[in-house]
Amino acid sequence: MKPVLTTLAVLALNAAAVQAQAQPQLPAPNLPTYSSAADVQTRCDSGLKGAKQRVGQLEKRKVDIGWLAAYDDLTVYLEDHQAPNDFILNVHPVKVIRDAAQACSLRWADFASSLGQNEKLYRALQKAPKQDGIDAELVRLASGQFEDSGVALPAPKRARAKQILNKLTELDQQFNKNIRDAGTRVAFTEAELKGVPPSVWEKAKRDEQGRVLLGVDYPSYVPVMRSAESAQARQRMWLAKVNEGGPANLDLLAQIVTLRGEYARLFGFDNYVDFNLRRRMAKDGATATRFLDSVTGAVTAREKDELQELRAAKAQHLGTPAEQTQVERWDATFYSERVKLQKFSVDQNAFRPYFPPQASLELSMRIIEKLMGVKYQRIDNKLWHEEAQTYVVSDAATGKPIAQMYVDLYPRDGKYNHAAVWPLRGSATRIGRAPVASLVVNFDRNGLTLDEVETLLHELGHAVHVNLSNTRYAATAGTTVMHDFVEAPSQMLEDWVYDKQVLKLMQEVCPTCKPVPDAMVEQAQAAKHYGKGGQFGRQHLYASYDIALHRATKPEPLPLWARMEGATPLGHVQGTMFPAGFAHIAGGYGSGYYGYLWSLVVAMDLRKAFETDKLGADVGKRYREQVLGQGAQKPAPELVEDFLGRESNSQAFFEYLKK
Ligand SMILES: [Zn+2]
Repeated sequence: MKPVLTTLAVLALNAAAVQAQAQPQLPAPNLPTYSSAADVQTRCDSGLKGAKQRVGQLEKRKVDIGWLAAYDDLTVYLEDHQAPNDFILNVHPVKVIRDAAQACSLRWADFASSLGQNEKLYRALQKAPKQDGIDAELVRLASGQFEDSGVALPAPKRARAKQILNKLTELDQQFNKNIRDAGTRVAFTEAELKGVPPSVWEKAKRDEQGRVLLGVDYPSYVPVMRSAESAQARQRMWLAKVNEGGPANLDLLAQIVTLRGEYARLFGFDNYVDFNLRRRMAKDGATATRFLDSVTGAVTAREKDELQELRAAKAQHLGTPAEQTQVERWDATFYSERVKLQKFSVDQNAFRPYFPPQASLELSMRIIEKLMGVKYQRIDNKLWHEEAQTYVVSDAATGKPIAQMYVDLYPRDGKYNHAAVWPLRGSATRIGRAPVASLVVNFDRNGLTLDEVETLLHELGHAVHVNLSNTRYAATAGTTVMHDFVEAPSQMLEDWVYDKQVLKLMQEVCPTCKPVPDAMVEQAQAAKHYGKGGQFGRQHLYASYDIALHRATKPEPLPLWARMEGATPLGHVQGTMFPAGFAHIAGGYGSGYYGYLWSLVVAMDLRKAFETDKLGADVGKRYREQVLGQGAQKPAPELVEDFLGRESNSQAFFEYLKK
């Protein structure tokens, strides 16, 4: 569903590491093993100490032609020391280790906010000699990051900016921890689970009354919402999910948004949205809002029509008169599945036998192999959990290893419970640095629905963006692109799962897997058009809420949400608090959630180049070089224009909405 593209404060030293024509080196040892909380702390102390020393050296360094490389060496150092810590706190199976990493992460955040305000480095960056456009873009981007950290503010404002940045990190961490460590379980009798595939609940823990205890993670939540015949069961599951995070998180969100508003005002902006969007494709809140309005204009009628169909389906199911039947929030998914089954004979659960998790991962990688001219090879490597896997990515033409990817497929207690990719290392051709991405998802061991295969491809798309980056500097590698472009390469690939030729690759990676029937895939594709009103309506609501909340002078997360959700066809349910679990906007997507829709416009435009052949190696190679390989060393609109041979436009997106 989403990427966590951890924002590493960009920064940098150590010119001695610069070598011409260096060979790609695979990072080894990859991640520290983190054997105890004390171990985390020791690494934290030494990592920070080293970082401070490097800053000191860079401050004293002569500002000559090698300065930008020296600056980028600091980024490299931070990736090697800070990034593993900030990642492991999301996935390590041992709670005290996660907690220690979280404490360390706050110290790194404090270091980063100081670094962002380092005037000596900022001035040196302005003076650094540039050899070409790539250097100029690094200077432009890095200067923007220093400025956004408050380096050019008068001293009292600067101090306040630093305080706010540190506090925001802490509040965001707490917000996520409240969700991760809540351990919410919902109890169901077996009768209440009628309709839900037994594989979802048979092995689950039971309470003392023998009731099945299910978590609110996707492998449990989605099947219950899709298939439980009992409305009460769905309602309980839904309520648990939309109350994830609880009132404490509403309070944290209010504090976060208030602080962001204050932060923007330090820079002379009257709201955080315009401050935050000024370096993105959208450029300001008004443009983002106009765009969102045009989306809602295209889907509102459709959303209402779909609701009528859901109501008819519910009336038919319960034998009640349609006019007296009301569709509740916890009905929407269930009846939408029934309509899809009736209209298109599509049952997402029926896909699971065709898509075992490991084979699905291998299928996804095979798609990338064909398209982008690479090879994935699994290697033995000790990671944070015995089921986490390591792959080496090589260039198919030369056989050279170019990157690594870690994969963590299954849910477990205390693990990050969405789908995301962490860019652990960026590419830097100047030192032959091989990029590393870590892909984290939570799939049912029994197999994936076609929707989940789509999610997997989406996330792999982020990993590929990191892995196939071929930038000179780590600071501009892969997914460091503009935030409202970063989803585009992943969203582009989602559509690949509906291509029969693509799915045939499954037989190459899993000869014993039964091929998914073409008819099932065609039906799923037709059904996808059916749910668009609700799907885009919801995305629109999330994005508009995010912007409205960040524009408010006195942010009140729940009343605003109740008002905005209340104005949608399905309305708001009193006592629910979706924003308490809306981790995106508490973190890096704050005021930027519209980016999912914005990126989708670009994704659909990019997709046009692959219209005739989704495995076309020539187009794929060009895409790898002109888009993925460039990372942020050129602005995103230029990458798209280079690849398409024209400016990007929204024609494909709006045509899709109408289909
Ligand atoms: Zn994503």
